[in-house]
Amino acid sequence: MQDIKSNSNKDELISIVVPVFNEKDVLLEFHKRLSNVLNTIAYRSEILYVNDGSTDCTINVLNNISQEDQRVRLYHLSRNFGKEIALTAGLDNAKGEAIIVIDADLQDPPELIHDMLKEWEEGYQVVYAKRIAREGETILKRSTAFLFYRIIKYFSKITIPQDTGDFRLLSREPLDSLLLLRERNRFMKGLFAWIGFSQKEILYRRDSRFAGKSKWDYVKLWNFAIDGITSFTVAPLKISSYLGLMIAFGAFLYGIFVIAKTLIYGDPVPGYPSLMVVILFLGGIQLICIGIIGEYLGRMFTETKQRPLYIIKRSKKP
Ligand code: UDP
Ligand code: MG
Repeated sequence: MQDIKSNSNKDELISIVVPVFNEKDVLLEFHKRLSNVLNTIAYRSEILYVNDGSTDCTINVLNNISQEDQRVRLYHLSRNFGKEIALTAGLDNAKGEAIIVIDADLQDPPELIHDMLKEWEEGYQVVYAKRIAREGETILKRSTAFLFYRIIKYFSKITIPQDTGDFRLLSREPLDSLLLLRERNRFMKGLFAWIGFSQKEILYRRDSRFAGKSKWDYVKLWNFAIDGITSFTVAPLKISSYLGLMIAFGAFLYGIFVIAKTLIYGDPVPGYPSLMVVILFLGGIQLICIGIIGEYLGRMFTETKQRPLYIIKRSKKP
């Protein structure tokens, strides 16, 4: 391996951050594969497992792993805070010069770490793994995802790479910048993109889960999308005010039309259907706009409480 840049000082520490929630069936295999990779790299390494309030015996598996491997450090959150927060807890505590975020379910192949380190040595400060388009995903899922990235890109001017999860390498400087962003609604993909720096993608084929099942369903995905949009753009608020303006203008024209009609033809009180349509239409629009304001207000409410992002337990018992 060529030492092109100062990045490749072999004494440096590499941190691996792994959020873990109910992964008892996968963890041993995951740790084995990760260790195999870490044994062959030229750097020192540490592995931070963040137990995100697992309710199965994941905690025992983790304790066993940490007893056998000196590189392992364990953090137990006091309850399930969600992957984004668990990840943040790990990143807060990582000491390495480069930090790699990886899922425990073996959907992110640990072997790719070699390639990531290579790009890092070349001088890239952020290296993210982009999956080659997956077969077997429904058209609905693909098209909604496409739309979602387009909306964010159009309104927030931030390009979030598509088909990219959290599997990535960050060097110390971008990580420190990332940790300055302490918002509670943590839309990680957006935050990773927001910080900038020289980013490099590498392609990989995403495997299916080794065991257990994904914690995502359509409701969660929907909330995830709302989180992403509201934390990166206020466009929906603007759209609702323009919509209001347009409708008010339309109503004004229609008002003139109705007055003129009454003056010319008299007032025989028809028009119940048009009245109903207008009332219902406006009522609907108003409710949607209030809802949009509510989404932002609710997020402001969570932010103003200034709660810590997570709580780490000291005890290692379940
Ligand atoms: N995870 C977590 N907290 C949660 C849900 C998931 O720490 O509340 C972890 C999980 O153990 C895994 C990673 O986040 O290591 C990815 O989770 P999952 O496989 O469910 O997500 P997907 O791969 O389907 O996006
Ligand atoms: Mg997964």
